[in-house]
Amino acid sequence: MSNLDTITHYINGVKVDTQSGRYADVFNPALGEPVARVALGTTEEVDAAVRAAEKAFPSWSATPPLTRARVLFKYLQLCQQHTDEFAAMLTREHGKTFADAQGEVARGIEMVEFAVGIPQLLKGEFTDQISRGIDAWSMRQALGVVAGITPFNFPVMVPMWMFPVALACGNTFILKPSERDPSPSLLHARLLKEAGLPDGVFNVIQGDKVTVDALLDHPVVQAVSFVGSTPIAEYIYSRGCAAGKRVQALGGAKNHMVVMPDADMEMTVDALMGAAYGSAGERCMAISVVVAVGDAGDKIVDALAKRTAALKVRDGMASDAEMGPVVSSAAKQRIERLIGEGVEQGAKLVVDGRNHVVAGRENGFFIGGTLFDHVTPDMTIYKEEIFGPVLCMLRSPDVGSAVELINRNEYGNGVAIYTRDGGVAREFVRQIQVGMVGVNVPLPVPMAFNSFGGWKRSLFGDHHAYGPEGVRFYTRHKAVMQRWPNTASAGAEFAFPQMK
Ligand code: NAD
Repeated sequence: MSNLDTITHYINGVKVDTQSGRYADVFNPALGEPVARVALGTTEEVDAAVRAAEKAFPSWSATPPLTRARVLFKYLQLCQQHTDEFAAMLTREHGKTFADAQGEVARGIEMVEFAVGIPQLLKGEFTDQISRGIDAWSMRQALGVVAGITPFNFPVMVPMWMFPVALACGNTFILKPSERDPSPSLLHARLLKEAGLPDGVFNVIQGDKVTVDALLDHPVVQAVSFVGSTPIAEYIYSRGCAAGKRVQALGGAKNHMVVMPDADMEMTVDALMGAAYGSAGERCMAISVVVAVGDAGDKIVDALAKRTAALKVRDGMASDAEMGPVVSSAAKQRIERLIGEGVEQGAKLVVDGRNHVVAGRENGFFIGGTLFDHVTPDMTIYKEEIFGPVLCMLRSPDVGSAVELINRNEYGNGVAIYTRDGGVAREFVRQIQVGMVGVNVPLPVPMAFNSFGGWKRSLFGDHHAYGPEGVRFYTRHKAVMQRWPNTASAGAEFAFPQMK
């Protein structure tokens, strides 16, 4: 028996432990030691959650949209009151700094602010008299039981890209959070219940591949939203679609920032520091590649090197921490191996973050900020998503070759350009094959009332996440044509109906 707290499922309004006997340790990455254990569920437990959600669906979907929105409004207020509790969980299980964690919670709360206005987006269209005595209208209806499978790097916010929208549209929901930082899922469940959400409408299944596969194969689950790495996103998309489900699967990224020689260099270096090293680079919108055009690289490399070496890498709870640890020992080893490969393949290692030790946290999974210059597109550090505090600089003779390089990359999540030239920026925006573009903005993460999604192998499926695209994903469109009998009936018609 373990002395650690167990993070359980949440099915039909109550916490339920697994019968599998399987558990995984949940680590505090700053300490490098387990702080809890999480249940790893079974196919039968997934079925129990799906059945609870199926049973709750008729009543929840028939609840007036405004009543549903009011439950979410109450939940929104509770999230605001519990921001620091969420943030402390994030720092404890993910490792990001407390200030960064508060920012994540704030961006999640914005999703709920959007969701309380969803009744406006559920309205259909009406056309009077499409033929004599016949009117037509459209409506959007909830799908039924839907599931969300989420990654470790935003364990509060990414589930909130999904369930507030899904619930506001009238669906019932099953969340399968990352097994590395699962605690926030149960706080979401508790606050939703406190807000008045009926039991069975929101459920949590903890686990690994076993539970994911059970959700993908379950005939009652109508739709799956996934956010995570590209190989798993592709797998989720194909297996979910093969089972007849609607699937949106957001994958990994390699986000470039093009720096033109005319850019404001101080502003550029500030932006790069936050975008490359914030959250230890474990953001799907992190900038991991700088494409320096002309002599821009020479202008920024020294300043970047100085500031990267001086980054305050600490336990995320330290008030002056700029960067915390990476999420796991395996992630640390993988990132350090990739840094080694960069050196072997001939990139210039300007700042080496390997073997970084934080006093008092000697067992933590820390890596210092790392900077490479003169990286080339054939190197592993360019081709692979590193997902750590490693920034790679490539040199490019002109903006045209920078655009070609980025368009050849398999990912297309985010990109940014730093320049003072409006014409260059405008043409860049038009030519670049990437879903989210920043002009002198390093992390162009769309607001809750827009929608989020990459191109190419950063997203499998047709719908982007949250915002109006989320409403479309979680509802079906229905077209209705209606005639009421009147006293002057014209009798039966056998020809194909035409406008008269
Ligand atoms: P991951 O793909 O390892 O895991 C994501 C989810 O899939 C987890 O819930 C996990 O339990 C499950 N999973 C893992 N392996 C599986 C398997 N073999 N079969 C079925 N399910 C499996 O991703 P991660 O390491 O938790 O998160 C980091 C990745 O997520 C990065 O690649 C990052 O770019 C990406 N990400 C993308 C976005 C985006 O919006 N595009 C946002 C956040 C994170």
